[in-house]
Amino acid sequence: MKVLLSGGSGFIAAHCVDILLQRGHDVVFTVRSDEKGQKILSNHPGTPASKLSYVIVKDIAQETAFDEAVKSDPPFEAVLHTASPFHYNVTDPKKDLLDPAIIGTTGILKAAKKSAPSVKRVVITSSFAAIINPAKHPKMYSEEVWNPITEEEAIQNPANAYRASKTFAEKAAWDFVAKEKPNFDLATINPPLVLGPVVHYLNSLDSINTSNERVRNMIQGKFKDGLPATGIFIWVDARDVALAHVKAMEVPEAGGNRFLCTAGYVSNGEIASIIKKNFPALADKLPTDLKSDRPEDVYGFDNSRSKKVLGIEYRKLEDSVVDTVNSLLAVGA
Ligand code: NDP
Repeated sequence: MKVLLSGGSGFIAAHCVDILLQRGHDVVFTVRSDEKGQKILSNHPGTPASKLSYVIVKDIAQETAFDEAVKSDPPFEAVLHTASPFHYNVTDPKKDLLDPAIIGTTGILKAAKKSAPSVKRVVITSSFAAIINPAKHPKMYSEEVWNPITEEEAIQNPANAYRASKTFAEKAAWDFVAKEKPNFDLATINPPLVLGPVVHYLNSLDSINTSNERVRNMIQGKFKDGLPATGIFIWVDARDVALAHVKAMEVPEAGGNRFLCTAGYVSNGEIASIIKKNFPALADKLPTDLKSDRPEDVYGFDNSRSKKVLGIEYRKLEDSVVDTVNSLLAVGA
């Protein structure tokens, strides 16, 4: 298939590029600058422009940002929308997080409806943030559950703003498809904490993607005097999330579904213990007494739809953490 992938410079998107190419798809990714686009291309030497190229989309918070990007010859058959800000450096929650998430999502859908009638499936990277209800966890999280966050709560702090950005953007996407009845259907991928090797070539360790920051901080000794609270107790590997995106694009029955993609439980104590066991040279960067802060009665999760419909077999935490640390050491941690 010919695929438009937004946010090509992102941590998860880099794995999407790899898997799309491995599975024979043609990829046009969006980036904010030529510099980023060229860097990504240079990391795929020998891949012809017909298989991998980029278009510039400078700011997804602009309503018409994707109007030109969706036009292509031969035309696109699918869109993977991963671009959305994921960070907590927020001065203005609306401008920094909510607008790019929501307008970015509705903008790419509108543009596809208007100018890319050949697109039959859009896959959006939503999040477990659009599912979790931190004030009152249900016994079991599944695709049926929605984060009940309100617009008022959205602007109270950066964590709320991020979770609201993902919740409102995903809702807007489902609403768009229901009301506008475009030529395409929709699937969303809803991952929790995403760990995994950094392959986005663009990074220094200072600008590592948000979800890998905890691993970087651990191996740099920033938590030597004690690990911070884990905060979120389920995780998934970026390569499995990327495969879920591609499968959600390929598998006809995936349309119309959310997919809670998770490998299982995690805690900072467990991550640190894995690092200590596999990288003895890093032991002195970590606290001596390591234990999980995950409560016994933490919520359950149901990832069966992702296994059944998309065929995802989730990686183990130990393999993911080892690969993540090795990738960080390679960039100079
Ligand atoms: P990254 O920060 O690595 O990637 C974010 C991408 O979005 C980058 O390509 C970034 O471009 C782009 N982007 C952000 N804001 C804008 C904007 N205003 N205009 C144009 N492009 C923009 O994060 P991840 O790879 O982790 O996240 C990718 C997606 O996955 C996001 O939708 C995120 O919400 C979701 N997600 C991530 C999880 C995780 O734990 N990592 C968990 C659940 C969901 P640039 O590089 O130029 O800044």
